[in-house]
Amino acid sequence: MLLSLIKILAFVAVVTAATFGAARLMEVSGGAEITVAGVELTLSPLELTIGFIVLIVLVWLVLKLLGLLIATLRFINGDETAISRYFNRNRERKGFEALSQGMMALASGEGHLAMAKASRAERYLDRPDLTNLLTAQAAELAGDRKKAEETYKKLLQDDRTRFVGVRGIMKQRLADGDTETALQLAKKAFELKPKHEETQDVLLRLQAESHDWAGARKTLGQKLKSGHLPRDVHKRRDAVLALSEAKDILDENKTIEAREAAIEANRLSPDLIPAAAMAARGYIEAGNPRYATRVIKKAWSVEPHPDLASAFAEIAPDEGPKDRIKRFSVLTRMHPDHPETKMLLTELHLAAEDFPAARRALGKLAEEAPTARSLTLMAAIERGEGSDDGVVRAWLTKALTAPRGPQWVCDNCQHIHANWDPVCGNCHGFDTLSWRTPPNAEVAMPGGTEMLPLIVGPKPAEDAGALAIVTETAEVGEDTDDSKKEEAK
Ligand SMILES: [Zn+2]
Repeated sequence: MLLSLIKILAFVAVVTAATFGAARLMEVSGGAEITVAGVELTLSPLELTIGFIVLIVLVWLVLKLLGLLIATLRFINGDETAISRYFNRNRERKGFEALSQGMMALASGEGHLAMAKASRAERYLDRPDLTNLLTAQAAELAGDRKKAEETYKKLLQDDRTRFVGVRGIMKQRLADGDTETALQLAKKAFELKPKHEETQDVLLRLQAESHDWAGARKTLGQKLKSGHLPRDVHKRRDAVLALSEAKDILDENKTIEAREAAIEANRLSPDLIPAAAMAARGYIEAGNPRYATRVIKKAWSVEPHPDLASAFAEIAPDEGPKDRIKRFSVLTRMHPDHPETKMLLTELHLAAEDFPAARRALGKLAEEAPTARSLTLMAAIERGEGSDDGVVRAWLTKALTAPRGPQWVCDNCQHIHANWDPVCGNCHGFDTLSWRTPPNAEVAMPGGTEMLPLIVGPKPAEDAGALAIVTETAEVGEDTDDSKKEEAK
């Protein structure tokens, strides 16, 4: 409405200006005298202006005719498409116009409009590489999956657009959850463009999910080579893959190879806890306790962890409690204020039935940073020191609703895992698990804690049972765990 009004106004303005100009030119006196071959011409200013405009039109026409003449000459000289090309230029212009409009529509999120423009461009232009690209993108945007897939398949036929076609179909298969076909397509895409970061990531994820550790290590190496991964991150991820390889070999009972793979993983990333524990077990099996101790000491110095403690206990499974405290001192000396160290030392003293020492080792941990494990240890100390049943029960009641403490948590989706795994079981992220306290770790008990006295209250016979259950949930090495249970009884 507004546009047509402006158009009318503009038209009126142009006519007014032309009339005004012509009137002014008529008023001007004088003119131009042209003498050509003895003929004299006298032109008024208005005639001169009109003549000038006619001259411009004539020159334009001559140029056009010249173009046609050149095309005809080329045609005669054997260039068969010269004349059709001359007339096609007009079509080409329309085609590129439609293409640019289509791209504009794509950028502004109008999928259906972009598709219409793409098919218009396709009619005028003989450039399937360009128009198919636009059609595929537009179909994706408009949610027309079938059309998109059809176009991706067309793109596969051209060398220049093959990668786009493979990538498009791969993404569709991924969205469908057809990871097997997606993996094949990702491999193909990686072959076509090994430096493409997104393809590297997708391939790596799919390979890790399908336990193709050797292939994943190759992809990871390429990621490092093309500069998409810092060297230290590559080192750690490579260790994770080597460790996963070891785990899988272990499942197949090929122990020597598993041992070597685990040791390799540990060499690549000495602070990777599962790798250290597995490498240590490999050394124990090979009858090399000195190396096992060294591996665990190295990992413990970075971060104390119950898995390391239980692997360390396996080095000398038959030693007495006193000897064990002495041998463990290489670990417990290292981070004396770390909660893990305190709880480990408490467990060792409990196993040696030295309850005052256990209480000293635990310190104020149960009050300051109460977790199910530290509170259960406190209950065991009270029981060992011969405290009243009510006191023991009070600690256990607290333990039931206390946070569980650090666990293997996915940094991506916060999913909690019982055991370390290279791929998150929930969001399928690769190498996203870290040992930390999960957010909102408080255990919510429906109906609050009013029922607890009824559960842990009256019957002393049930008490020991409850203690054993809670003790089992704490992440403790098997040996220390067993001895503590005995203590509890
Ligand atoms: Zn996750």
